[in-house]
Amino acid sequence: MMYRCCECGHLFEEGEQAIWHENHGAEIGGEMFDGCPLCRGDYEEVRQCKECGEWHYEDELYEGWCEKCLRETINYDTFFEYCEANKDEQYLDIFVMSELLGGMDCPKNVSWDFHQLMIDVYKARVDDIKSVMTASYKAVIDILPACIRFILDDDGSIGRENYADWLNNRKEVK
Ligand SMILES: [Zn+2]
Ligand SMILES: [Zn+2]
Repeated sequence: MMYRCCECGHLFEEGEQAIWHENHGAEIGGEMFDGCPLCRGDYEEVRQCKECGEWHYEDELYEGWCEKCLRETINYDTFFEYCEANKDEQYLDIFVMSELLGGMDCPKNVSWDFHQLMIDVYKARVDDIKSVMTASYKAVIDILPACIRFILDDDGSIGRENYADWLNNRKEVK
């Protein structure tokens, strides 16, 4: 097991903790304490991100992934694939309506045609962005930051868990 100090950030292994005794001036008794080997600060268990191998506190990992690595997996294709995997939740419809069509609310229970239209709008925009990038002419706003925000930030940590879970299962299929 590995730990990181919450005070100074020192990374250390099980067994390296500083252990000391405080008796608060009493002749007998007192308490044993343990802490960071460098500063005696509080420490917490850390685990490795399955992708980059960096050590993170438990609440900084989502199904084994750190936020930075999750972010790096998102591109126009994975975004589309993830949205389509969540078609029942209307991910793509909601995204296209709110980000690409001027912030409109998405109607519930949309028709097949409506969903196809949303797909067309998304793909057309991505094509625009890609052609603009090769022409090095910035007239189209890149939607990738919005894609990333939609997946990782809009639903807080639950969104990150869901996405990481999807990624994990997607890799197993390959
Ligand atoms: Zn420390
Ligand atoms: Zn990572």
